[in-house]
Parts: sequence; structure tokens; C-alpha cells
Amino acid sequence: MAVLRSYVNGRWQAPDDGQPVHDAVTGEEVARVSSHGVDFAATLDYGRRTGGPALRALTFHQRAALVKSVGTMLREHRDELYALSARTGATLFDSKFDVDGGIGVLLSYASKARRELPDERCYVEGPPERLGKTGLFAGRHVLTPMLGVAVQVNAFNFPVWGPLEKLAPALIAGVPSLIKPASLTAYVTAAMVELIVDSGLLPAGAVQLACGGAGDLLDHLTEQDMLGFTGSAATARRLRAHPVVVGRAVRFNAEADSLNCSVLGQDAVPGTPEFDLYVKQLVTEMTVKAGQKCTAIRRAFVPAGQVDAVIEAVGARLAKVVVGNPADESVRMGALAGLEQREEVRRGVKALANAGRLVWGDPDHVEVSGADDERGAFISPVLLAGDADRPEPHEVEAFGPVSTVLPYESVAEVIELAARGRGSLAGSVVTADADFAREVVLGLAPWHGRILVLDREGAPESTGHGAPPPVLVHGGPGRAGGGEELGGLRSVFHHMQRTAVQGSPGMLTAITGRWTSGAERDTAGGHPFRKSLADLRVGDTVVAGPRAVTLADIEHFAEFTKDTFYAHMDEAAAAANPFFEGRVAHGYLVVSLAAGLFVDPDPGPVLANYGIDDLRFLTPVYPGDELKVTLTCKQISPRDGAYGEVRWDTEVTKQDGSVAARYDVLTMVAKQWPLAEGSTS
Ligand code: NAP
Repeated sequence: MAVLRSYVNGRWQAPDDGQPVHDAVTGEEVARVSSHGVDFAATLDYGRRTGGPALRALTFHQRAALVKSVGTMLREHRDELYALSARTGATLFDSKFDVDGGIGVLLSYASKARRELPDERCYVEGPPERLGKTGLFAGRHVLTPMLGVAVQVNAFNFPVWGPLEKLAPALIAGVPSLIKPASLTAYVTAAMVELIVDSGLLPAGAVQLACGGAGDLLDHLTEQDMLGFTGSAATARRLRAHPVVVGRAVRFNAEADSLNCSVLGQDAVPGTPEFDLYVKQLVTEMTVKAGQKCTAIRRAFVPAGQVDAVIEAVGARLAKVVVGNPADESVRMGALAGLEQREEVRRGVKALANAGRLVWGDPDHVEVSGADDERGAFISPVLLAGDADRPEPHEVEAFGPVSTVLPYESVAEVIELAARGRGSLAGSVVTADADFAREVVLGLAPWHGRILVLDREGAPESTGHGAPPPVLVHGGPGRAGGGEELGGLRSVFHHMQRTAVQGSPGMLTAITGRWTSGAERDTAGGHPFRKSLADLRVGDTVVAGPRAVTLADIEHFAEFTKDTFYAHMDEAAAAANPFFEGRVAHGYLVVSLAAGLFVDPDPGPVLANYGIDDLRFLTPVYPGDELKVTLTCKQISPRDGAYGEVRWDTEVTKQDGSVAARYDVLTMVAKQWPLAEGSTS
């Protein structure tokens, strides 16, 4: 029987033997797993010395391109992964959830990084903070990649999505990864890593794989390494308290189990679309991946008067769920990942039944289609009706197709009951009543990482209670691990060190590559609009004006745009306004006049103005005022292709030096001028 190989120190290696893991459907041995022979100290060192420097040499956009290419490559091989995934007991739908979900995370991160991160190696966060009275000293946050390895210890239920959701942000941050899959389904992860390694898309050392137990892995973590864990709350507690993790303050993120809840609104009585949505969602959450989802609904909170109706409707749907061999097309729910898992789920159901009664399904018997129910880890969906005052429904996670219906009487009560789970990954509220939704969501929020509100309007596009979208936070407080994985760029930044850098505006400009207010401006080099990116420098400035603003200008603008707001048109009414002494120029007139002052009109390297950021009108402009504008190149962000983005600090001042308006003008500027042949198409 094949012994799974690990990919460490730039090569594949396999132990002589290992623990057997079995096909969840047939019970046949699939592979043997052991990390025997893996030198974890050398593996981490290899990642730090090889993968780290190679990734840090790339810009965010270059790393995003790698992530995209890995996602595209894996998409080509989905069928191979589905086939292996089926051996974990997954239906094709379940496999797609895992495999396509994981690929989707890669592609989502790649595109987000290209859109929202600069084509640079580090990230400058937020605006400068002025620290001195006269602007001679300021501070700014800079994020640089950690110099260690992002170690991921994953759960068995998502062997593809689990590692990829951690790999994507680590790669984009410039940090190499070591993947340690759960032994039970490591053969799927190993096949996925093999595809990545064989593709040659990533630099050496960027991804390593250690199949089998974690051995002494944690003993070799350093202050620059990170540990990302997904699994049970019990293991999370153990890893969090590891002496090296504690002693070296290793960055630790845990995504653990939780007793997620779904609340049926008091308005959602039988016959309403929301009642049906609630029932359908609950059955989906119970049966997808045979309920082996950390986000699945374990506690179904229902108004006390609706308990029987919900049980009846859920039962009717569960009765149609065919359990069996995922290869059989009629099968809706496959097997649990292993026979041991089934025993654990049965133990969980027993504990839950102590606090209520079984109302649908039998954990010890199930009719199985197309497979041997003795050898495969099949189990029936199980619905319980519980006593909400007992501790078990709020404490026991039966990690399978198991949910408990719990009654509530009032909004305050359901909020209090939900909190007894002591921290959850995901919750949902199903209602058409916006006031109810608001009260419950805000009440639940401190105990939840994500809350989905479902009603008839959003339902057609709802992403579902159990699916964490990569752009939104995944994680939860307390029992859920206290971590925050995914969440768009937040999780990229988890792999970087945020450093507050303080200094003079000139120093901050040099260090961050962004012009900082108070730093020198260069007005001697000609109009910056005549410079392509090859010549343009941060700090290049044009000062233009003055230009007097007349009453005729204001009236002309009002007439032309039909913006005849009284503050521009009626002297007495304007003067009665607490902000003005009389008629004032339109803010947009000021911005337009400023553009008329600073632009260089002839065709040139500035190709387009694509927006304005942070526009503020700070002092009113009256007829007779004279405007000057100072436009300074603040940030240059080259893109692939023939042009890049240039951000211009723009300050419009009046004759007395007061600032009328301040904003950033955003332009596209050619890398070379004239444009190279073919680059205009
Ligand atoms: P688990 O038993 O806690 O194992 C998770 C991982 O930790 C496995 O890779 C396991 O390796 C490893 N591990 C166990 N003991 C360890 C130790 N002392 N040192 C280092 N590593 C250790 O959880 P599981 O049974 O695989 O997964 C099911 C649980 O995960 C459920 O409770 C579920 O709710 C939770 N989960 C949470 C999320 C989330 O995003 N929050 C997602 C999926 C699952 P071996 O397999 O080699 O023992």
C-alpha cells in the first residue's frame, strides 16, 4: 500500500510505513501516513532560507500572478481531486465545495491583491499622522512580510480548501508555507500539493508538505514563524499553550469548532417564504459534507410556538435525503470521513439526547444506497428537539449531520441562548422583519465572526450559512478559536509585521515612496504632466494660478449645471447659513477651476483622470477670492502594460493662504511617451 510522501527540503520523501487510512465508503485502505523521517527543523529552515527570500523578491502583483496561475492550473485537474475526495465520503457536490471552493479562494485573492495592493514589496497603510505642531515630524504604518514560515495545521474535513485558504494570503504576503494536513484525508492534500510542485509555478521552498503527525514541529518555531490551526477546540487549546508558541510569541491563529446557530424570526410562520428558507437551509447545513462543516448549524433556535412545525417540515425534507455511495447519482449525502468519526458522532448524539429527544433519524441505523453500511462510515441525519436550558446543546459538537431544535420566547432570550455557545464562527437569522434582524444581529455579533441574514429578497443570491466568502472575515471569538482567517486583505496582513515609522516628512517620503506633506517639492523640472513614468518622480510639483473667482463665474456654473442651491444664488439666504458670509462658489466649481489651472492641455503622457479621493472643502470661496493650486506627485504605481497610476496631492489655496480644498487627483500615466506602437489598442 502506498505510503504518503512529504515534500520537504526541496524533495519528496516517504517513510517505510505508517498508520493506515481508509476509504470512507468501502473501508479499503487508501494509504499509510507517517511523518517519520521528516526533519522539521531542517524543513522550516529550508522554507526560511529558500522560499522566503524568493517570494520577498517579488512584488504583490507578481505574487498575485503566481497565485492565479496555481488556481488556474488546479482547475484543470479538478476531476482528479474530485475522484480522491469521493474516497473521503464526499458527494460530487461536497467535493466541489472543497475543491472549487479552494480554487475560488486562490483566484479571489489574486484579483483582490492586484486591485487593492500596489505593485510593490511592502505595504504602506493609512495616511501619515502628524506628530509635531508645525509638521516637521510625522508617523506612518509600514507592513513588511514576516521572515519565517506560515505553518498550517489543518482539519480533515476540507483537505483542499483548508490548505488553499491559508496558502493564498501567505503567498501574496511573501511568506512560504508548510502544510500539515490531517492524517485522515492527507492523501487528497498530498495530491493537490503534488500538482502544485509538478507545475513548477512556485519558487523552491514556497510550499512544503509534511504528512503524518506533527512530531516536534512546534519546538522549532521562531518569532518570525506563524502557526495557523484549523481543527477541534481541544487541539487548539493544546497548540496555543505550547511552550514555544507562548515563549516566542509565535503568531497563532485558530479556527476551531463551534456550536453555530440559526434563528428563525418570529414573523417567519409556516407559509411565509422565510419559514421555507429556514427549513431548507437547515437541511442543507445538516447534509452537505455529511454535516462535517465547522460552520454547520448545530443549534436551530425557533419561536416556541413553531417548534412542531419546524420539526415536521425538516423531517419531510430529510426523508428525501438518500444516504450512500457518493458515486451513485441519486445519493444526496455521503459518508463521514471514517468509522472512528462515526463513533464520535454517535457519542455526541447520545450526549445531546440527554438534554432532549430524537425527533428524526437514528444514529445507529441508516438505509444505505450502493454501499456496504458496515464497511462505510454512513450515518443517518439526526434531528433532536432540545431543552435550551440544558448545557449540552450549547457545548457538545456532534461533528456530523446533527442539529438540535431549541425553543425561544423573546429576542432577549434568543440572544442570551446563542451566547451560551461561548463564541461561534457563523450564525444566521432568517426573517423579513428588519427591526428583529437588527436587534438579533447586533445582539449576536459580539459572539460571532460572521452572521448571515436570509430573507426572500436576498435568497436567490445568498452564499449560504456555511460558506465563508474569501473577502469576508472567517473566524470567531471564544470557543471558535479567537482567530480571524480570510477577510480579504486582512489575512494577507496577518502574515506581515506592521511597524510604525516616525520621522521628518522627507525621511518618510524616502522610506515609503509616498510624498508626505511637509517634504520638499520639486518645481524646477518642468510641468509634471509632460513627464512619463520613466521621468516622473514623487515630489514633482506644479504651482498654478492665481485665478480670481467672480460672481459671473458662479452664475455661469449654476446656469450651466442647473445647480442653483441657494448658498450660490441668494445673498441673504446664504448669509443666514451659519457656515457662510454670503454667496459662495460651488465646491465643484472650485475643483473644476483648479483643474483648469493645473492641467497641461496638449496630448502627453497623462492619459486619463480616473477619480478623486478624499475631497474636502475646507474654506468657503467668495466672489473676488483668488485661487492657487499646488499639485504634487504623491504616489506612482506602475501596472502591467503601458501605463501606471499616479496619485497627485492637490491643495487649492486662497489669497490669504487658507486652504479652500484638498484632495488627491488620480490619473493614468504612460510609462513612455510617445506610447510604444500597439499599446493604445
Ligand atoms: P483535530 O483532531 O483537532 O485535528 C486537527 C489537526 O491538528 C490535524 O491536522 C491533526 O493532525 C492536528 N493535531 C492533533 N493533535 C495535534 C498536536 N498535539 N500537535 C499538533 N497537531 C495536532 O480536528 P479534526 O478532527 O481534524 O477536525 C475536526 C474539527 O475541526 C471539528 O471540531 C471542526 O469543527 C473543526 N474545524 C474547524 C474549522 C474552522 O474553520 N474553524 C474548519 C474545519 C474543521 P492528525 O490528523 O495527524 O492527528
